[in-house]
Order: sequence, then C-alpha cells, then structure tokens
Amino acid sequence: MDLGLKNRTAIVCAASRGLGYATARELAAEGARVVICARGDDRLQAARQAIIAETGADVRAVAADLATREGIEAVAHAVETAFGPADILVNNTGGPPSGPFESLGWDKWQAATDNLLRSTVELTRRVLPGMRERKWGRILNVTSITVKQPVDGLMLSNSLRAAVTGFSRTLATEVARDGVTVNCILPGFTNTERVAHLNAATAEREGVRVETVQARTEAQIPMGRIGEPREFAALAAFLVSARASYITGQSVAVDGGWIRALY
Ligand code: NAD
Repeated sequence: MDLGLKNRTAIVCAASRGLGYATARELAAEGARVVICARGDDRLQAARQAIIAETGADVRAVAADLATREGIEAVAHAVETAFGPADILVNNTGGPPSGPFESLGWDKWQAATDNLLRSTVELTRRVLPGMRERKWGRILNVTSITVKQPVDGLMLSNSLRAAVTGFSRTLATEVARDGVTVNCILPGFTNTERVAHLNAATAEREGVRVETVQARTEAQIPMGRIGEPREFAALAAFLVSARASYITGQSVAVDGGWIRALY
C-alpha cells in the first residue's frame, strides 16, 4: 500500500528513542522529510544518523524541551527553516512519574501538565493554521491505553491523557472541513526504556523482582507479550498517511488486546 507520505513534511516529537524514534523511522522509510526533537542532543543526533543511514531520508534534529515555550518555538522554527510548513505533527513526549495521589504535589502536577497537555496544545497552535490554509494536515497525539482503562498507580498519566483526548476530539470537529485530521494513538505496554523504568519502580515499591512485574503485565495481555515499537509505528504511519483521509477524532489502541472495552 502506498501511504502517500513521499515528500510530506513531518514533525515527530520526543524521537531520540522509544515510540517517537520508531515512528520517525517509519515515516522516513515512507519517504517523508522528518524533523525530530528531544531534550538532549547526543542521543538525538545519534537517532538522526541512524534513521538517515537506514532510510536515506532527509532528517533534521532539534534539541528542545517541549514543556517550555522556547522548546515549542525551537521545533516550529526548525521545521519552517528546514522544509517549510509541516504537513504532519506527531505530538509525543516523555511519560510522567508514576505514584499515588499523595506522592504528587503541586509542582509535579504542573510539570506533567506542561509536558503532556501544554506541549500538545502549543505545538498544534503553531502548525495548524498552515495546515488549514493548505487544506491538508495530520495531527496525531500519542496518549495511552490508560484513557480507556486507567492503570493503577499512574495518576498523572491517567488524568492528563484524558485531557489530551478531550482536546483532540474537540479540535477534530473544528478543523474537519479543512482536510486536517486529529487522532490519538494509544500505546499498550511496549518494549521501550519507559516501560523498563516503570517496571523497576513498581518492583522497588512492592519489594519484588522486576521479572515478577514483567510476568504479571504479560499475563494481562491477550497476546501474552508486550508490543514492539515498530508495531506501534506501523499504525502511526497509517493514521498520518493520505490513506487515512476519512479517519478523524478517533483513539486507536495498539495493545495486543489489553483494553477490554467494546469501543
Ligand atoms: P521513552 O521514555 O522511551 O522515550 C521518551 C522520549 O521523550 C525520549 O526521546 C525523551 O528524550 C523524550 N522526552 C522526554 N521529555 C521530553 C521533553 N520535555 N521534551 C522533549 N522530549 C522529551 O518513552 P516511550 O515508551 O517511547 O513513550 C512515549 C510516550 O508514550 C510517553 O509519554 C509514554 O508515557 C507513553 N506510553 C508509553 C507506553 C509504553 O509501553 N512504552 C505505554 C503507554 C504510553
């Protein structure tokens, strides 16, 4: 299937590793020109080089903290100067800390809100006018299976990704007639550093081995295994493609069947 991504310009946020990296690589392999960002520079540059080596695509990297106004501006500026207006925006960022309500004070809620919700809102604000003007655009927000079935102990993620979902669904209707789609993609448990980190935190909190936590997670997944980032990236690429032109306002999971809800 030709996804119609050749020469499209994409921003993929938080792409030095994990789900963002896999998505950027997939879009580059489909012929898109890609700007990737993350906070640190070394790992980001290594990610850029790896994607270029594998796909031969034109990939640019910008170090930016998406939880800040300057970071948002840096990403928007980088894409405009490198390639011109963005056709595709994949909003993604690092996950917030886990922990129950009492462990999360004012500052942690503020930081998580800036990181997860404000980054999505503000980067969208920067690129959306151009998409509407050109009557083509794709906005894809990475949320989580927690929006359909909250995961115990992930208070910040459970709460703020629901806010991103409300934002996405509302915006989808506002821009639908301009050829711009707005969707969410919901990763289930996927093999990245984030999951290794969460498993280690859970193991320490409960005083059990990491392998025990992993086995418990796998037992909840009908497929009996956690996902691979490339399995997530395959759907991400489709949802931002020309082929997904009539799909908007949706939240689609890649979770091996973990969510038990009917829709
Ligand atoms: P990861 O920790 O492996 O990678 C996160 C990326 O975000 C890195 O590139 C990091 O540099 C970047 N980043 C972090 N904070 C940033 C900031 N303020 N500005 C710019 N870049 C920043 O995480 P992942 O597993 O790839 O997950 C991506 C998102 O999906 C996270 O929000 C995570 O919570 C969510 N998610 C992941 C899973 C999973 O199983 N992997 C499941 C559900 C949801």
